[in-house]
Amino acid sequence: MKGHVIKSAGLLLAITLLFPNLLGSLTDVNAQTPLPRQESYQFTNGQWFDGSGFRRRAFYSVNGILTLKSPARIDKVFDLKNGYVIPPFAEGHNHWLEPQRVDEYVRNYLRDGVFYVKDEANMPNIVSQFRDKLNRPTSVDFISALQGFTGSGGHPLEIIRQFQKMGVLPKEWSERDFDGKAVMIVDDAKDIPSRWSLLLEGKPDFVKVFLNYSGLGEARTGNPKKTGLNPKLLPEIVRLAHKAGLYVSVHISTAADFHNALVGGADEIAHLPFVDFDKELGNEHFLISEPDARLAARRGVRVITTLGWLKADLGDDPQREKEARTQVVIPNLRLLKRYGVKLLVGSDQFRQTSLPEILLISSLDVFTNLELLKMACEGTPQAIFPRRKIGFLREGYEASFLVLEGNPLTNVEEIKNIGLRLKQGYLLNLQN
Ligand SMILES: [Zn+2]
Repeated sequence: MKGHVIKSAGLLLAITLLFPNLLGSLTDVNAQTPLPRQESYQFTNGQWFDGSGFRRRAFYSVNGILTLKSPARIDKVFDLKNGYVIPPFAEGHNHWLEPQRVDEYVRNYLRDGVFYVKDEANMPNIVSQFRDKLNRPTSVDFISALQGFTGSGGHPLEIIRQFQKMGVLPKEWSERDFDGKAVMIVDDAKDIPSRWSLLLEGKPDFVKVFLNYSGLGEARTGNPKKTGLNPKLLPEIVRLAHKAGLYVSVHISTAADFHNALVGGADEIAHLPFVDFDKELGNEHFLISEPDARLAARRGVRVITTLGWLKADLGDDPQREKEARTQVVIPNLRLLKRYGVKLLVGSDQFRQTSLPEILLISSLDVFTNLELLKMACEGTPQAIFPRRKIGFLREGYEASFLVLEGNPLTNVEEIKNIGLRLKQGYLLNLQN
């Protein structure tokens, strides 16, 4: 991870060469000190993304808000030198499980232009160690589901055990503590009320449920990666969540899980089917059916990509990986696109941001660069913070954007060349 820090210092040098007038305006990221006074900026010679293309216009940032109206006072004018301005990216699926590395996570995410993060299951004990460093104008904005619901011996217990071995969790925690403190284990409807009140104590931003290889019966016992909540219990969790004003995001592995999540009332599906890909099973177990795609579209159920798992699960078997990509992932994505299902960019790749995920989606040639940019900059941030004015560069929206050196609609790789980052009116300094 050290390489990232060196790289960001190099990038900052490039930025200051490119935009020498920035010096003195940069705000340190993640500092715990009070924020400096908010300056008013004018940005000239920028080409601003308007949802269909880039338009030359001059925006101002006043009190952290974008406006086209010139304010009475302008503290600084920035010449964007024909740069391409886009809304920031978002990570729709990750888990920030290392409090000791959160400063590094924040720097890496801001470096990649990923300002919004959705943590799809974590533990109150871990999140409480870094929550006050986040959701500030110069840091990452973060929401978490906290403890997800699973069945006895189910996913993600194997990951929790691994984290205890790594020393991230309190040493004194035993298997018995995991239920309640790390996950909610529910095998029967009568287990739900106590776990539900415990979950609410931590103030989750949404609710996570794990379905893993549901319907495969005995074949999966003893394998946590293939065990999750009994899908029959999902509707009751959905009912409680909706009553509390929370939505439900469901982990899935197979097409049967996708179906069970949908009919159980899920608002969001946290993966495309193929996570924890079982090479022994035929592709038909991972192909989403047309009626399910239609139902997902009709109900407005969002689906998170997590294509990073293709490499993570099958990287050691290039032939199978290629087959899974061409015979499962691409047909699934084409089907969801055809029915207009809303897709969110999320990597679920530990210690990474969603930038590689965007490039991975692009490499499959299912979406145009415009469709992908809209998914990454508009749809995913808005899904994470639906009540905020983000995802668009418009009058009255938050003054948060990235300035790219080249046009991402002609070359998607340009999303890696970020020359300037503004978040809620603050120019970010990634050097410290
Ligand atoms: Zn995950």
